[in-house]
Amino acid sequence: MKPFDYVRASDAAGVKEAGGRIIAGGTNLLDLMKHQIETPSTLVDVTRLDMTEVEQAENSLRIGALVTNSELAAHESVRRDYPVLSRALLAGATGQLRNKATTGGNLMQRTRCPYFYDTTQACNKREPGLGCQAMEGANRILAVLGASDKCIATHPSDMAVAMRALDARIEIDSVDRGTELLTMDEFYVLPGDDPSVETVLNPGDLITAVHLPTAPKGRQTYRKVRDRSSYAFALVSVAGIVETQGGKITEAALAFGGLAPRPWRDTAVEEVLVGEAPSEALFDKAADVLLADAKGHGDNDFKIPLARRTLKAVLGELTGAS
Ligand SMILES: Cc1cc2nc3c(=O)[nH]c(=O)nc-3n(C[C@H](O)[C@H](O)[C@H](O)COP(=O)(O)OP(=O)(O)OC[C@H]3O[C@@H](n4cnc5c(N)ncnc54)[C@H](O)[C@@H]3O)c2cc1C
Ligand code: SF4
Repeated sequence: MKPFDYVRASDAAGVKEAGGRIIAGGTNLLDLMKHQIETPSTLVDVTRLDMTEVEQAENSLRIGALVTNSELAAHESVRRDYPVLSRALLAGATGQLRNKATTGGNLMQRTRCPYFYDTTQACNKREPGLGCQAMEGANRILAVLGASDKCIATHPSDMAVAMRALDARIEIDSVDRGTELLTMDEFYVLPGDDPSVETVLNPGDLITAVHLPTAPKGRQTYRKVRDRSSYAFALVSVAGIVETQGGKITEAALAFGGLAPRPWRDTAVEEVLVGEAPSEALFDKAADVLLADAKGHGDNDFKIPLARRTLKAVLGELTGAS
């Protein structure tokens, strides 16, 4: 690990003043520093900031950026009104990690592409312009949607997938722009030509909270398909919220993990479903829309049929149709 300065901030102004790399639970950042993939000259510890509460705000539940994954999964309102989020959190990492991992840090965790972690391999995300070893290499866990010819990494967070289905907004205290509330699509940047840029955050910008709108109607679930039953990132995951009335789907929100560089949502998939009676043929049609632009790179071709099967299983579970 390279030497670095350490500052413990007591408020947002102190974070901005220090202008270094934010550290919260440290479960991802410290790994990256040990591998010398991240080499910040200053670490700004934010764990003393007042961002530890889950509060009922007007028309939303406000989750402080330092709420741990364990606390959030167990929170009474989350378990009652947003079970998809509770399930997604519990599907991630291990109990020990969830006790340290924070809401802000989880949103900002970096890809698990093996070449990103191996400094002897070419990786445009680690060093723009170097090339992408994964494109023709071991890409089993990588993206089939939303990728570019520079990078096919996936975003690894389970929590963020559930938040995407729930229409969460991310609250930011930005050095240049002040306080902002961003949708997850506004927050995460697709790889394009420079995959090292993953979000709209600039140095010193702080995630302060996540807002969940009023509890959605309908049934909720999170299904994660992975290589082992625990301690593994998603190959494909689906966060689903579906309401049915009078034999027809009246509302649907679906988000996907393991498929794309950011928690993936395509409202065209939901539009196919709403107003229709649930059936296998309808679920196939929704999967066709989701996967119309999907592109495998060899090792990860299997994710395309796997995503279809997982989506259909989730829709079957949520609507009672097989
Ligand atoms: C073995 C292992 C297995 C795992 N399995 C899973 C899994 O299955 N599913 C899953 O979703 N995750 C998994 N994780 C990832 C884990 O959830 C993340 O490491 C964790 O959520 C990161 O949170 P943290 O608070 O520790 O972040 P840190 O490591 O402290 O920070 C991560 C990044 O976030 C930035 N950051 C932190 N807080 C803020 C803030 N408030 N504002 C702006 N930037 C901020 C930091 O600068 C850094 O870039 C796993 C991790 C490990 C080590
Ligand atoms: S897929 Fe992205 S993270 Fe992986 S090697 Fe290529 S550029 Fe790097």
